[in-house]
Amino acid sequence: MKDNFPNFSDKARDILEGKCKLREVDDFRALLCADCAFYHHGEEENEECSCFLLLKFLLERKAFDLQRVLDELQ
Ligand code: SF4
Repeated sequence: MKDNFPNFSDKARDILEGKCKLREVDDFRALLCADCAFYHHGEEENEECSCFLLLKFLLERKAFDLQRVLDELQ
C-alpha cells in the first residue's frame, strides 16, 4: 500500500521529524495531493476536492494522526 503513496509518506515523515510544517495551502497540497493523478504541480488550476478539504480540516484540528497512517501504510 505504501508504494501507492510515496510522496505522502515522504512528506509525512518530514513533518513528524520537524523538517517542515503544514502552514500554507501548498504545504497541504504537497502532503495530500502529490500522489493524486489529478495533481498539477505548481499550477493554479488545481481544484480542492472534498477529500482534500476533509483531510486538511482534520489535520488542522490535530484529528488526523500522521504517525498512525504511516504505520498502516508500512
Ligand atoms: S485536491 Fe483532490 S483531486 Fe485535486 S489534486 Fe488534491 S487530492 Fe487530487
